Amino acid sequence: MKVLLLENIHPKSEEFFKRNGYEVESLSGSLDENVLSKKIKDVHVLGIRSKTKITSKVLENAENLLAIGAFCIGTNQINIKKCNSKGIVIFNAPFSNTRSVVELAIGNIISLMRGTFDKSSKLHHGMWEKSASRSFEVRGKKLGIIGYGNIGSQLSVLAELLGMKVYFYDIDDKLPLGNAENCSSMEEVLELADVVTVHVDGRPENTNLISQREFDIMKDGAIFINLSRGSIVDINSLAENVKSGKLGGVSVDVYPSEPVSKKTEYSTVLQELPNTILTPHIAGSTEEAQQSIAEFVPAKIYDFIKRGSTVSSVNFPNLQLPLIINGHRLVHIHENVPGIMAKLNNILARHKINIEGQYLKTNQEIGYVITDIKNEYDKNVIGMLENIEHTVRLRLLF
Ligand code: NAD
Repeated sequence: MKVLLLENIHPKSEEFFKRNGYEVESLSGSLDENVLSKKIKDVHVLGIRSKTKITSKVLENAENLLAIGAFCIGTNQINIKKCNSKGIVIFNAPFSNTRSVVELAIGNIISLMRGTFDKSSKLHHGMWEKSASRSFEVRGKKLGIIGYGNIGSQLSVLAELLGMKVYFYDIDDKLPLGNAENCSSMEEVLELADVVTVHVDGRPENTNLISQREFDIMKDGAIFINLSRGSIVDINSLAENVKSGKLGGVSVDVYPSEPVSKKTEYSTVLQELPNTILTPHIAGSTEEAQQSIAEFVPAKIYDFIKRGSTVSSVNFPNLQLPLIINGHRLVHIHENVPGIMAKLNNILARHKINIEGQYLKTNQEIGYVITDIKNEYDKNVIGMLENIEHTVRLRLLF
């Protein structure tokens, strides 16, 4: 099987695939639609990060592609609908860099509360600003977390260890960790927090989730942190609230539009503002996170190709499967319409094939059936199963 890894994926991934007998090509950059459309034809596994766009045209040409590994968290760069219709499974690394983001958030909360970033910049320019004014401990302060998912909940734990009092709001029901308090609305959190930090996902409804109305609700002098997505905060309104002094400090790692290359000169309305830490989308970028992603994603892909497991897949129903010792495993991927199981089992019954084990899981679009059968079977059934109406893909694993 051929693996194509793009965008400088950590060498651990290449090592893993090679060790397991795959042929691997690794490229440091991304490929554009036309080049990738040609290159993809004989590829079975594609590894990308956030820059490579997996468009409908690329997927049209992906005749052999079984799996895409997104060596990052987001999967917006992939046409998921098209992957579903072609039976291509997508895996990502939803929590490999969680800890890295949380550590940066903690570091920046302390930095902003103490004003050390500005004081350091001033000293670089010869100004000795020795003062305790507007410099605070984080102990005993109220941290408001909007979005209590992987990052929000981890941050909650570490912030409590520093003596902060944690309040959070999530649109889903979440178990409060430690002594954190679950608030019934985002407004409630904004109103009481000394530090507000946003860790929601980038769904369209979250565009400009934090705008002037939300800044108005916050305490005067509140610290505001966005390490999640650029689209979530109205950046002009954020800048105005720093200028007016409504916000006492800001840390931003993500922007509404970000440059595609390191070389591009970047400008944002947040530059030159006081007590404002700007980082170039690096909250999750650490050596540890890169290594963890490079171990997590290939293991999931390998498990899928080897035994059909789809645990933690982005687009496929999640199924954890046992190994079988003697026998064969049929993987049938179909559009999720009624009656497919009956048709499949009918064909097996007519050919007197005994089912050793069968697993079915569906999501809104896809039905995923694994059928384990005995060693001896009539090979004609494969074609018949493939011909069942609404079949997307059939694979015989072993
Ligand atoms: P997650 O999916 O585990 O958590 C997101 C949480 O936000 C979920 O619990 C969801 O229910 C909640 N949510 C969504 N909309 C909400 C709303 N309007 N109000 C309240 N809660 C809402 O995601 P995660 O892994 O914790 O990541 C959080 C964010 O951080 C994502 O946007 C991700 O893209 C971003 N991120 C950025 C970096 C970086 O380098 N800057 C790195 C990793 C993750």
